[in-house]
Amino acid sequence: MTQVCWLVKQDNCHQRIRLPHLETVVIGRGPETKITDKKCSRQQVHLKAECNKGYVKVKQMGINPTSVDSVIIGKDQEVMLKPGQILHIVNELYPYTVQFVEETEKPVSGGERKRKRPCDDNETDEEIKSGKVEAEPLDCSEGTSALKPPTSTRSVPDLLKGEKPSHKKASFGHWSQGLTISMYDRRMQVYRDDRVVVINDKFPKAQYHWLVLPWDSISSLKNLNQKHVKLLRHMQTVGGKMIDRCVESKRVRFRLGYHAVPSMNHLHLHVISQDFDSPCLRNKKHWNSFNTEYFLESEDVINMIKKHGKVIIPQGVSDFLNLPLCCHICKEQQPTIPQLKDHLRKHGSK
Ligand code: AMP
Ligand code: ZN
Repeated sequence: MTQVCWLVKQDNCHQRIRLPHLETVVIGRGPETKITDKKCSRQQVHLKAECNKGYVKVKQMGINPTSVDSVIIGKDQEVMLKPGQILHIVNELYPYTVQFVEETEKPVSGGERKRKRPCDDNETDEEIKSGKVEAEPLDCSEGTSALKPPTSTRSVPDLLKGEKPSHKKASFGHWSQGLTISMYDRRMQVYRDDRVVVINDKFPKAQYHWLVLPWDSISSLKNLNQKHVKLLRHMQTVGGKMIDRCVESKRVRFRLGYHAVPSMNHLHLHVISQDFDSPCLRNKKHWNSFNTEYFLESEDVINMIKKHGKVIIPQGVSDFLNLPLCCHICKEQQPTIPQLKDHLRKHGSK
């Protein structure tokens, strides 16, 4: 079993270039990349995979800028490129990512393999859309949660930590890792700075539903302590900015908070409008996760850490998910989700 590194074209994962361990590969304008842009040198970048460390060294050789996550490398400068980061070969164009996979077989010529690749997750997304499988965490109990993880790939968090590859099957394509993939996907990002990224929730439970995630690899509320207070405050501020930026912010009410027991890996702050007007809000668990004490206000989480040094999740908090459906405005109980939605329309509330 060996670690193999691939440079994968972002908009076409079938176009990929093998980067052998510690060998310099020259990339630029030419048939291999299909780049014909004259602004791109034939020798635009030198790439050297360090498979044991889980990154690729990228050196800009051409005059025009090569960038990693929008930061220009600079002529003759070298930076590290890790899985999840985006390499633009020149002028913020021609995006590529790197993937490390464990291979048991010899690579087939042309770089094609029969095994499922991480980028094949798009197919899984289609399965989700078509309703064959459900990637949403709170639906697990409905027995439709399992997506097949691709074989022999390492999880994104492991790769980012640069840990040694594990030989057990990892969970890169498992639904619980979905946020870790989405947060690096430019199409999902709506805001980013040096500490956090904001993405659109893939299954929004209201008209406006964003997730604020730190770049730091923090898996959940349980990992938080005093030293995270500033970061949490920043996440909340950024959430607030998103609300201010929203055209309907004067009309729509928002809440910012965390699910007490999140199903998705990687700490994420929900910023959600209170209309709950969304076809993705389909069941009692969805509703109660945002409208009972299962939803922990961001401010309360910060105060709890300041006071106790950690987040204390009360025992049995998941029981809140099974409570009867209650309107969040007038508290009237509603028998079903469709009836609750009708009821909300009567309020005309946001
Ligand atoms: P929770 O872990 O319960 O706090 O909620 C996770 C949130 O992530 C839910 O609101 C989901 O709709 C959302 N979600 C699930 N998969 C993805 C994904 N791949 N990208 C973005 N959002 C997702
Ligand atoms: Zn009501």
